[in-house]
Amino acid sequence: MVGPVLVGAVCGLAWAAALRAYMAELNGLVSEVDGVGTFVGVLLPGVLVGAGLGAAAVQPRTARTQLRWLAACPLLFAIVPLAFPGALVTLLTTGLGGGAVAVALGGIAGGYALGGRRLWARIVCGILPVALLAGIVVTVPLVGGPRLSLTDPRGAWVACLVGALLVVLMIAASLPFRRLRAGATSPAAGWPVRTRQNGTMRATYLFAPGDVRVVDVPDPVILQPTDAIVRVVAACVCGSDLHPYRKISPIEHGTAMGHEFVGLIEELGSEVTGLAEGDFVIAPFVWSDGTCDFCREGLQTSCRHGGGWGSKDVNGGQGEAVRVPFADGTLVKVPAGFDPALVPDLLTLSDVYSTGFHAAATAGVRPGMDVTVIGDGAVGLLAVLAARELGAERIVLMGHHEVRTDLGRAFGATDVVAERGEEGIARVKDLTGGDGTHAVLEAVGYLDAFEQALGIVRAGGTVSRVGVPQYTEGPIGRVQFGRNVTITGGIAPARAYIERLLPGVLDGSVHPGRVFDRELPLEEAPEGYRLMNEREALKVLLRPQPLSEGRATLPG
Ligand SMILES: [Zn+2]
Repeated sequence: MVGPVLVGAVCGLAWAAALRAYMAELNGLVSEVDGVGTFVGVLLPGVLVGAGLGAAAVQPRTARTQLRWLAACPLLFAIVPLAFPGALVTLLTTGLGGGAVAVALGGIAGGYALGGRRLWARIVCGILPVALLAGIVVTVPLVGGPRLSLTDPRGAWVACLVGALLVVLMIAASLPFRRLRAGATSPAAGWPVRTRQNGTMRATYLFAPGDVRVVDVPDPVILQPTDAIVRVVAACVCGSDLHPYRKISPIEHGTAMGHEFVGLIEELGSEVTGLAEGDFVIAPFVWSDGTCDFCREGLQTSCRHGGGWGSKDVNGGQGEAVRVPFADGTLVKVPAGFDPALVPDLLTLSDVYSTGFHAAATAGVRPGMDVTVIGDGAVGLLAVLAARELGAERIVLMGHHEVRTDLGRAFGATDVVAERGEEGIARVKDLTGGDGTHAVLEAVGYLDAFEQALGIVRAGGTVSRVGVPQYTEGPIGRVQFGRNVTITGGIAPARAYIERLLPGVLDGSVHPGRVFDRELPLEEAPEGYRLMNEREALKVLLRPQPLSEGRATLPG
């Protein structure tokens, strides 16, 4: 707050000097005000107004709104004195007038800017000064202007007190709310704010193999100035959630689950600059500071200060709200705002589509290339989509679940091979003139899938693994050496791909969200895990609360 106020004070001095020159130009009115009067009546309100201006420029938090306010405020001050010359002349002749006009205008601008989307703050800071101004316009001529002249101590005190009161109100309005109160209207039109009672929310926890429960946990709160609280609009169950689901050692208090979610920013720490309350955001499946060397290199999964969801004091994604560390580095704002119809597509950017794309990108898929994708889970199917996006000509999908491979064909697979092992390798070789494919994207994670990949890859080709390996040893010996096979892939830095993949999702040219074949309310998360574990569902989307009807758009 100190920085903006200082900036504003300088702006205000400049503005006050300009106003003073304007008044002198008008008809020598300034001569009626002596040294003290000039300071109190013109310079001080000018500084106060400027403080509001500076805060206005910094407080709204997004570059665009800051620029808008920087441009709009001086314009406002230039226009208003010209629009109300009569009032201005009346007020200026009283001495108190110059100060009152300045303070009122500062209050209006400050109220709008600092209040942001908070209605009460706009009312307090915007309407109060207008009322004050109107009161002065009406009463001063009645009681006789000179009686409250700034050249007398009484008038100066009144101007100072009024100015100070407004500054206090403006600063109060700028302080961040702890949270939106229950029943308040959220920035998303038609989206009722979750009613939080007793400071708790619902979240999904895993206690033992097969024992998933949705439980009450404390509401997340801002712990660091770089944090954000995100209200989850949609989350999902991941194939990798099934590993602990099957074999976790029982934990008395459970462990928070979920690492894929999209949501609305509900609250921001004071140092978050690139996001605003109400922004619709995508969370990658790990959080990262966005500033360290690894993050700048696009490997946010190796961030020096990053971590995973659902660990220690960071919530899991399968809940009503999440504390997001390093919000600026971690979250990606959807520029188009909140559109319910796009939620499933956008949610895949959190992990599965980004991971599929990582497989294709690290395998160096380029136009005209032949590609094999092993695995018909959500990641494998989206690796097919990614390979097509990167221009692959022939895309062989290896999977035996027909509904899923059909979706794979819709995503761009040209051939489907249901056989596995040696038989599957032989089938792919038959399809590709006996050589195999340049790129093999392995999206399973078991050793036999990796061995299959090594059997299919063409000499000089690349195997990229994005299935989390469930093995510690594998064939990387003389055979692969002799064939110049590159083995790459790894955990996907989803954060590095989201901005790249977002335009295709927003313009509707791809629909990765088709991988969601079931949608359940958050309360039914245990059923979601069961469906995924028993392969009755490809991917389950969880909704913390029902969507409102129709399309909602966020301001800003
Ligand atoms: Zn980092």
